[in-house]
Amino acid sequence: MALHIPTPLMESSPLSRAAGCAVWLKLECMQPPGSFKIRGIGAACEHYARQGAKRFVSSSGGNAGLAVAYAGRLLGVPVTVVVPATTSQRAIELLQQEGAELIVHGASWQEANAMAQSLLQETDAFLHPFDNPLLWSGHASMIDEVAATGNRPDAVLLSVGGGGLMSGVMEGLARNGWGDVPVLAVETQGAASLHAAMQAGRRVELEAVTSLATSLGARQVCEQAFALSQGGKVHSVLVSDRQAVAACSRFLDDHRLLVEPACGAALAVAYARAPELAAFRSVLLIVCGGATATADNLRQWTAQLA
Ligand SMILES: *Cc1c(COP(=O)(O)O)cnc(C)c1O
Repeated sequence: MALHIPTPLMESSPLSRAAGCAVWLKLECMQPPGSFKIRGIGAACEHYARQGAKRFVSSSGGNAGLAVAYAGRLLGVPVTVVVPATTSQRAIELLQQEGAELIVHGASWQEANAMAQSLLQETDAFLHPFDNPLLWSGHASMIDEVAATGNRPDAVLLSVGGGGLMSGVMEGLARNGWGDVPVLAVETQGAASLHAAMQAGRRVELEAVTSLATSLGARQVCEQAFALSQGGKVHSVLVSDRQAVAACSRFLDDHRLLVEPACGAALAVAYARAPELAAFRSVLLIVCGGATATADNLRQWTAQLA
């Protein structure tokens, strides 16, 4: 049995009114560990467990690490997560609640990741947060669920960090005969690694990630996401942190659901009725979720960005 749950698909009246087209929400924020990541990570963990993995190792202090911890608990496989000192108290608490062994090491993700790699034993499986084909085909299951309703969108609206979600969604579109559906790939300014790569015509590494949408903070997108972006169906859209945070607040009021700014980025495009939407009658919005933001964080960010 899969570790993720099938999620609701619903048309949003407030978002449709704002966007000027029918906005269908795929509510991945309802996944037990709080984001879509459990789809791909759950599938990958099941695969590695079948192959005899005795431990799962992650270096993500965000939703990927949470998904690994959750998957390990359900599969009865121990989990070690190495996170940098910058990881929020909230994320640390959530990881501990899932029963993961937590190692806080280094000032940045690079250092935590190097430590995680150095720990790897023969019988361990390392779970990358976005660059793994097992993840993409797991993420694709969210599109299988939409396709089963027969409700074909004119476009898909989603957030991009390292590009695992986008790779999975496009795999799902292709395997359901919807490969020609365009994708609006949203990033925040300050975390725009896909945008930079599309501009340059090759993958580039950002010097730094300055957005507070930390779940979008991959300095470079994976090869697969870049390759897909060259197919003519991916349109890059940028929003500000302020727009992403404002979208989170508005979504909380509209649907009583709290999501991270990483998810607010995609919501912001609909709330702003971005010109990129004008060509479409119906849009599928992947509400990717995120468990690491609190209502307090949202208030602080709103004040800080005012
Ligand atoms: C990981 C994550 C993303 C970005 O996904 P990628 O696969 O890295 O592109 C977006 N939103 C949330 C909430 C996430 O956890």
